[in-house]
Amino acid sequence: MQLSTPSIVLHAFDYRETSRIVRLLTRDLGIVSVIARGARRPRSKYGAALDLFASGTAHIATAMGRDLHTLTAFEATVSRAGLAASLDRFAAAAALAELLLRFAPEQEDPGLLDAATETLDALAVAPPGSGDTVALGGAWRLMAELGFAPSLEECAACHAPLDPQTAVAFHHRAGGALCGACAAPVHGARVLPAEARHTMREWLAGREAPPLDAPTVRAHQRLLREFLEEHLTDGGRPLRALIAWERHEVGA
Ligand SMILES: [Zn+2]
Repeated sequence: MQLSTPSIVLHAFDYRETSRIVRLLTRDLGIVSVIARGARRPRSKYGAALDLFASGTAHIATAMGRDLHTLTAFEATVSRAGLAASLDRFAAAAALAELLLRFAPEQEDPGLLDAATETLDALAVAPPGSGDTVALGGAWRLMAELGFAPSLEECAACHAPLDPQTAVAFHHRAGGALCGACAAPVHGARVLPAEARHTMREWLAGREAPPLDAPTVRAHQRLLREFLEEHLTDGGRPLRALIAWERHEVGA
């Protein structure tokens, strides 16, 4: 079956002498692996079209019952070269790509592709020093889109409303913030200040938060990574790109 679908290049690696295997987030198939035959030949029809984080229309020949489909053409629409030009933006984009590759389903999800497209577009033009904040917002928006939004306005356990002005306990396995009574017997909860909770609410709703200082960015990166680790269902492989991004200095 032949199919043309809007896509983003999330991962690519060399295969045999002349080919590349590319993992795409697509509108119609979700996450999909395709082989781009001849992509490494000097005069390949793909040129730079399959560079990481590029958007375009993928023409795919799907094979029933196979995990690897064949890419027959890719018309790039946005290259996002700006993401590769800065180490910090690149690290943040790689973390977002990893989130999508580990959490996104192998099925149609137009809202997810739109959210990923807007997040990478914003990251590509983020002013120096604000890329990490943009990526954090994008990551939580993508998690909300994927159905993993943590509970922030009511207790994740008993659903009692939480005062937005107070710090609360945040428990990854419980799925979000806890009221005092539910938090008391629980171990391993983090304290989530009121301001951080407000910021996360904005991000989950797809809104922008003001740029954060470096320690706040790192606290949010750690909270995000711990939340993702708790909710991974594909085994214990570490989130390498996310960890690398977290260890980066902010700015540049
Ligand atoms: Zn409760």
